Amino acid sequence: MKVLKFGGTSVGSAKNINKVISILEQQSQDSKLAVVVSAVGGITDNLLDAGNLACSKDEAYLTHYNAIASTHKKVIEKLFEDFKTDKSSQKKHDELQKIVSKKLDGLKKLLDGIYLINELSPKTKDKLLSYGEMLSSTIIQKTLASRNLDVVLKNSQELITTDLNFNNAAVNFEITNANINTFFTSNANKIVVLPGFVSKSLTGELTTLGRGGSDYTSAIIAAATSAEELQIWTDVSGMFTANPKLVKHAKPITNLTYQEAVELSHFGAKVLYPPTVMPVLRKQIPIVIKNTLQPDAVGTTVSKEHKPNGQSPVKGISNIDHVALLTLQGNGMVGIPGFSKRLFETLAQEKINIILITQSSSEHSICFGISEHNALQAKTAIDTTFEYEIALKKIDPIIVETDLSIIAVVGDNMKSHQGISGKTFSTLGKNNVNIRAIAQGASERNISAVIHKNDVKKSLNALHERFFEVKTKQINLFITGVGNVGERLIDQIQQQQSFLKKNLQISLRIVGMSNSRKMVFKDDGINLEDWVSEFDFAEKSSINGFYKKAVEMNLRNSIFVDVTASEQVANIYSDYLKHSIAVVACSKIACSKDYETYKNLHDLSKKYNTPFLYETNVGAALPIINTLNNLVSSGDKVTNIQAVLSGSLNFVFNNFSDKNNFHDTVKRAQFEGYTEPDPRIDLSGIDVARKVLILARENGAAMEIEDIEVEPFLTKANLASTSVDDFYETLQQDEAHFQKLYASAEAKNCQLKYVAEYDNGKAKVGLQEIPEGHPFFNLEGKDNIVMFYTQRYPRQPLIVKGAGAGADVTASGLFADIIRIANN
Ligand code: ADP
Ligand code: ASP
Ligand code: MG
Repeated sequence: MKVLKFGGTSVGSAKNINKVISILEQQSQDSKLAVVVSAVGGITDNLLDAGNLACSKDEAYLTHYNAIASTHKKVIEKLFEDFKTDKSSQKKHDELQKIVSKKLDGLKKLLDGIYLINELSPKTKDKLLSYGEMLSSTIIQKTLASRNLDVVLKNSQELITTDLNFNNAAVNFEITNANINTFFTSNANKIVVLPGFVSKSLTGELTTLGRGGSDYTSAIIAAATSAEELQIWTDVSGMFTANPKLVKHAKPITNLTYQEAVELSHFGAKVLYPPTVMPVLRKQIPIVIKNTLQPDAVGTTVSKEHKPNGQSPVKGISNIDHVALLTLQGNGMVGIPGFSKRLFETLAQEKINIILITQSSSEHSICFGISEHNALQAKTAIDTTFEYEIALKKIDPIIVETDLSIIAVVGDNMKSHQGISGKTFSTLGKNNVNIRAIAQGASERNISAVIHKNDVKKSLNALHERFFEVKTKQINLFITGVGNVGERLIDQIQQQQSFLKKNLQISLRIVGMSNSRKMVFKDDGINLEDWVSEFDFAEKSSINGFYKKAVEMNLRNSIFVDVTASEQVANIYSDYLKHSIAVVACSKIACSKDYETYKNLHDLSKKYNTPFLYETNVGAALPIINTLNNLVSSGDKVTNIQAVLSGSLNFVFNNFSDKNNFHDTVKRAQFEGYTEPDPRIDLSGIDVARKVLILARENGAAMEIEDIEVEPFLTKANLASTSVDDFYETLQQDEAHFQKLYASAEAKNCQLKYVAEYDNGKAKVGLQEIPEGHPFFNLEGKDNIVMFYTQRYPRQPLIVKGAGAGADVTASGLFADIIRIANN
């Protein structure tokens, strides 16, 4: 014999029941079948809601009742599709509707009674909830019979005998097994349909086996009859590597051992009700989990056989929500036996199930996790048990923390692999998931962690990626300041997406972007083919709103990319870093502010193990900061830096001459995007000063901007201008001054270059006349050059040279920083 259990979705509609019927038609050809069914999907919850409403004197219970009645009636109408035209079908349809109506009348009376007496005891609740399975099993058995299958209905309440622990009754296996055997030995039908979940006490009271308990009913029958196989038919194709509703990349696990299935189900993999495994394990009956909606999918086989699932020793990751963590602590506990015994006895008396326990070796505290809805009950009971010790201040009143969840990493083979817990916790840590408690079973088959409920989805996905998808790493970008450079960056990302996936196993997605007006977010990535139209329906942007949303989305491997020149944006880098969101900035505001700010950001980056990169602050995409960092970290000493660092000034001095006046040349540089929006920042030398300041700081000097000597080449009037327009006017007026600078250099056959210099802790910037033969002399267009003189490069400097400005190269510099983080 085989036992098949069909869950709520499988019997949730006429369409699915028809699928169930074809599975049964096929399998009953070569085996006797015991078919256990759940209530129609959602009905148990509806019954509970109706009961609670009735109990609180809310007449809305009637609406719930009507919905329950109509759901069943409609299912029957659909199952007997031709009942309006076919006489024999009509007869069967009417007969079934009559039986069901009678049951529904009983339900209505019960609800009316609850309403009347204003009470819903656990005992009444079981009576109420049992209607779901009693109705569904009747409908399915009658429908199967109408399709000419040899089928009988057997009420499980007559077979499964329990204690009086309503809502979660314990089975008396001796009586139950005898009942089941007696029934099945004498039964000759090919198919026996039985309601799941429902049972009866020795004294004849209706009981249930706990929510999700139909799985358990089927396991009890399978074990008692020594069935060949137990099939659990549900709405997913087996036990997945993680809950497929939360982890998109989760995959079915083909094989699990009984122990692995126990751990996964106990730690929240709802597809299998935890007590289900034990009865069949004893008899070594395999459990096959299959999808009613895709019967051909392989599914999961649970047996004693150990078969690996790919490379990873981890088989699955599960989660339990609505967990409370209780801590009992106090100096009076140390070295005194019996505290744990009294604690756990109290919980047992209250029938509270403990999900996880940890005890520190100092014995100073015991910490355990239970279901959140038992928290208050547990606290009251424990505080009463330890009333005396609490009064004497030997122990503290129990501490209760709520809004928590547990995630568990499970696999038989974990015990023979080192580093699984290291990987687990470093992955969580990297993603800023705070771990409240940890437990590892002695079997080493399970590592579990208690975390905040808001971190569950992120943690599951990050761990899943770590253990099952090592091949691709998902990077989530939040880009703020989508203007000239930002647009190029988006284009470059779009072009490279498939290359990165294929060659670097990086799945790069933009999940948030903003410009000065609007901001848009997409959990599963913005469509980069048409990102412009994403802004059509976007919300109004704000710096804080963008930040808050990035934190709220709580995605793993998040990077905030600042493409603005806004000081306010730079001011909140620290907040991003504190939430483990990496920061990539082309704005140099943060790094060139006071040293304290610069240092603080680096300290935060270290503390939260979250990168803060800004290669584009100096020389756009040129590897200048990176080269300097490499020199310093490899033990070299940088003594002197000579550089031309302003692409804009270089462009201006390369194009300005006695034929092209200064004003027009600056205008052109701005038009072509080589200057800051305010060209005074470039021309005053302040921009170059900031760059050399950053280089000095990267080299370990705790310098401030005031420490940089700036020799301006602009006139007093230029420098005193109050607006950009005003500035351009003064440039025009002072043309003669600039021509003089040009003529002087020209006369000496020199080139004008704005040079930055760092020398052993001192730095200055200013215009210089560069003679022929000097490496700066032939610097073209918007190029930058940096010469590092170091202990290892004392005479011939290490030179980095190339385009140092422009939207495209700046975007590519940002992109390189992003990739560097992704590769980390
Ligand atoms: P049924 O009504 O058939 O008993 P359940 O809702 O009890 O179905 O269980 C199936 C559900 O379990 C799936 O739809 C899925 O959302 C959830 N689930 C949680 N964790 C897992 C997992 N690791 N693998 C498969 N399903 C899981
Ligand atoms: N119908 C019950 C519930 O929803 C039992 C089950 O479906 O397994 O909990
Ligand atoms: Mg279930």
